[in-house]
Amino acid sequence: MTLPKMNRVLLKLSGEVLMGGQQFGIDPAFVLELAKEVKAAKDTGLQICLVIGGGNIFRGMAGAAQGMDRAQADYMGMLATVMNALAMQSALEQLGVETRVQSAVQMDQVCEPVIRRRAERHLEKGRIVIFAAGVGAPYFTTDSGAALRAAEMKCDALLKGTSVDGIYDSDPKKNADAKRYETVSYSKVLADDLKVMDASAVALCRDNEIPIVVFSIREKGNVVKVLSGEGTQTIVTDHTA
Ligand code: UDP
Repeated sequence: MTLPKMNRVLLKLSGEVLMGGQQFGIDPAFVLELAKEVKAAKDTGLQICLVIGGGNIFRGMAGAAQGMDRAQADYMGMLATVMNALAMQSALEQLGVETRVQSAVQMDQVCEPVIRRRAERHLEKGRIVIFAAGVGAPYFTTDSGAALRAAEMKCDALLKGTSVDGIYDSDPKKNADAKRYETVSYSKVLADDLKVMDASAVALCRDNEIPIVVFSIREKGNVVKVLSGEGTQTIVTDHTA
């Protein structure tokens, strides 16, 4: 299946891809490589909204598992996403790409708050808008933040760049016979609990008919390949024909 003609996309990157080869944190050299991928996508003429996770620094669930209050740990996770957003902003600006960071947790000295109309204006001017801090509430993840911003900003698709090249019927790391779906419906993702995004994020995309494209961001040049229909990916949509 090829993607429909798109003008605006939301690109979601998992925090873990910012680690590069490290076990934790941010590898600035690798962030610069990722920024080149984002720039290449923008250079195809698309307007780009960007959401970056925080899993390379802190995940609320991990904190809660170690005895922290879950909501408190989630706020720490949200702050981690702001750090990643700033790292990506810096890398994109090194490449001459204008960006603005908008955070769902207000942080006036550091970035703008999320203001939809202002984000629209940035996109019209050719800037990339990086949405940080997810939905701004605990018990959510940046996948839900990505789905929410994709709906709010009327994006034509949500592109999820991660470490695997799509959605499989079983874990490809554990099962050599795991099969990758070319397309799969939202309801199958939800019913079979295919671990790709949170159920709330998938449901929000389903309700707003936003296709989700899952692909590997680790492979150089892949975003542009995926956008041109030549890449390896899984598309989540109800139009699976
Ligand atoms: N988080 C949150 N609400 C949000 C978005 C994120 O509480 O709307 C917290 C949550 O603790 C999460 C962490 O921020 O674990 C980092 O985000 P996420 O796990 O989505 O990052 P990713 O897995 O994409 O790197």
